Amino acid sequence: LFQKDEFFVLILGLDNAGKTTYLEQTKTKFNKGYKGMNLAKITTTVGLNIGKIDLGKTRLNFWDLGGQEELQSLWDKYYAESHAIIYVVDSSDRERIEESKAAFDKMIVNSSLHGVPLMVLANKQDLEGCLSVEDIKHVFNPIPEVVGDRDCKTAGVSALRGDGVCDGINWLAECIK
Ligand code: GDP
Repeated sequence: LFQKDEFFVLILGLDNAGKTTYLEQTKTKFNKGYKGMNLAKITTTVGLNIGKIDLGKTRLNFWDLGGQEELQSLWDKYYAESHAIIYVVDSSDRERIEESKAAFDKMIVNSSLHGVPLMVLANKQDLEGCLSVEDIKHVFNPIPEVVGDRDCKTAGVSALRGDGVCDGINWLAECIK
């Protein structure tokens, strides 16, 4: 029997950041023949979306958790089981950047996530006037002094168009292995 190495990846971020769209796009790109939801019809996560992809011998299981304030308190129930974090930011929503940063700050210091690879996604880069990847990097500042000793990457993506999705997932898979 072909045994897979199984890993668990959390997809976190505020509601409306694009987590569900990102997960659907990831499944579409990596799972041959997967017919996803109509991306334009996706609505915000309430509860949990799950998905999995296989990269050779590696299986990544994704948990996309709801981002509303009352659901953020559930995030840490999943930390102990997680091998990587994807933190999705809506680069077009300047008004909620500080709110997103506050949720991020609370998450990243949790000891259960010590050393776990982190990818911050500056999502919605297709929208005009959005914050750039550099802007997002500046705000979230994923340097060791702030986020501890872990593999970190900040990447610009458009979950809706699928831009940048494959590169990020491949990077994460390399870090986990
Ligand atoms: P979630 O609450 O974090 O799961 O966010 P959703 O995936 O439900 O997305 C929230 C809204 O943002 C939806 O209307 C999506 O179509 C839209 N959205 C998500 N990603 C992108 C993107 O990359 N570009 C644009 N323009 N819209 C996006």
